[in-house]
Amino acid sequence: MASIKYKVSIENPLKHQFRIQISFVPNTDKLMHISLPNWIPGSYMIRDFAKHVLELKAQDTSGELVIETISKNRFAISHNQQEVTVTYLYYAFDMSVRKAYLDQEFGFINPASALFCIDELKDQTCLVELVKSNNPIIANWQPASGLTGVDHTDSFAWGHYSAKNYLEFTDYPILFGELDIAEFSVANTPHFLVTVGQHFGDLQRAAKDLKPLCQYHIDMFDGLPEGVDKYLFLTMVTDSGFGGLEHLNSTALVCSRFDILKQEQEIDDNYTTFLSLCSHEYLHTWNVKRLKPKEFIPYQLEQEVYTKQLWFYEGMTSYFDDLSLLETNTITQDKYLEILAKTFTRIEKGQGQLRQSVTESSLHTWTKFYQQDEAAPDQIVSYYQKGAAIACLMDLIIKQDSQGKIALKDLMHKAWNLYGKEQIGTTQQQLEDLFKSFIGTQNHDLLHDVLYNTNKIDLIAAFARSGIELSYQSQQSATHAQGIVENSTNNWLGCVVALNNGYLVVKQVLENSPAEQAGIAVNDHLIAIDNFRLNNLNIEKVLSTVIGKNTSVHYFRKDKLYQAPLTVEASPKFVASLTIKDTEKAKLWLG
Ligand SMILES: [Zn+2]
Repeated sequence: MASIKYKVSIENPLKHQFRIQISFVPNTDKLMHISLPNWIPGSYMIRDFAKHVLELKAQDTSGELVIETISKNRFAISHNQQEVTVTYLYYAFDMSVRKAYLDQEFGFINPASALFCIDELKDQTCLVELVKSNNPIIANWQPASGLTGVDHTDSFAWGHYSAKNYLEFTDYPILFGELDIAEFSVANTPHFLVTVGQHFGDLQRAAKDLKPLCQYHIDMFDGLPEGVDKYLFLTMVTDSGFGGLEHLNSTALVCSRFDILKQEQEIDDNYTTFLSLCSHEYLHTWNVKRLKPKEFIPYQLEQEVYTKQLWFYEGMTSYFDDLSLLETNTITQDKYLEILAKTFTRIEKGQGQLRQSVTESSLHTWTKFYQQDEAAPDQIVSYYQKGAAIACLMDLIIKQDSQGKIALKDLMHKAWNLYGKEQIGTTQQQLEDLFKSFIGTQNHDLLHDVLYNTNKIDLIAAFARSGIELSYQSQQSATHAQGIVENSTNNWLGCVVALNNGYLVVKQVLENSPAEQAGIAVNDHLIAIDNFRLNNLNIEKVLSTVIGKNTSVHYFRKDKLYQAPLTVEASPKFVASLTIKDTEKAKLWLG
């Protein structure tokens, strides 16, 4: 069968350019069309990847061919019914898991962002050649991807690989660099933790910690999905980045070089978060890559695709990413309760949950969740966080009702068997019916309520039945609700500030807060409270001296100085904490 030949070369790391060559034989005497996706599955935002294409050309043995622009991401090629070769440079300087990146330290390509689809031939096999560069500064680089090797089984060799068709090809991100690799076997399947970029840890230690997490998810679904004969954690190590994107037999990750630990180091919060991220993306191998909304079958990558179901696909995954750490004894029970409470704090902090339901949040993800502005905490609810809270609530109910005989895990397993294994896809109704079959009729209204209504999700009663007290307190200090916004102070004032050029610049103002009542807005520069000049070191102390007092605040807006009356109050009670009150009852949920 005919195939499309892709050649990926590293043109110039210092200019952040890949050179791409695509050869194909037209199957029609009419125009052939090439197109790039506008978004990448798992990250619901129109990103217009084609804007990074440079010097697009097409030619055959007779010379250069005419390329006509059809739209921002689609081109038509006139041809002579013989092999056509398309060439271009791709500018790769997006330090994230969503596009492509290249510098002298490492490179990364999501095929969805950089490699054209030949529209008329999208079902043809893609043969992919990864070309070793003779540039001496990258002489020791190797590629790493989940692609299937042609004539070799090594995942880290320069040379030829293949993918069944274009859509599958888009799901094999490729990493380039001086690879650090730790191999471990789970369910008789080779797994690889691969990093590029300098770190100070030991990958063998991370591999040892990842193995039980992978096994946990494999057990949940009774084995790896068909066709997954290897799995790669493809990790770009940077100064402070963080993120992940799920793929068919790999995940692309970004982490900080300080996240990965040495063998003997005690587990800390950053490393815990890294393991949780790995666990999250690994679970996606089933939940969203194969078991997925019907609307995503097949993915339409030109324009937005709308679904209500992300509360399930991201919410369940977010719940199990941390629970898996507890249930594999990677973290302690206390640490788990602390992490879970932080999720509840984030939901409770703004007014967002009172304005948007979790199904609306999913539908509007393209313009709201993925394009959050400073007002987001008061306007939208995260389907990750509220979805995880729903998962937790359902897990509590299922375990309580069945006296611990079944759990949310069994629901996931059933969803997989019904809709995932054969990749049939789910509808919102099917997911709801599945939950209803697990929770008993007395809770059907509750399910509807948490999915469609905008009242606060009430977890207190369900936790109490499991011997756990969920309580909410006022924020005591900026670090009390740590992790909500890093490097920020939002103590009692109800606004988030960041230091910028020596000024405390307002980044966010919470609704009904003292800051809002004083007229403070985003981008204002806070100068003084109670006539004391503010800096990032003293703001909390100054605030703590004026609680309940009628005082004043000075701030610059644009270049004009304002003074306004200010009354600093205790914060609303949004900081969640979970405390075990009855160890026996709690065992039913926590084991
Ligand atoms: Zn996810």
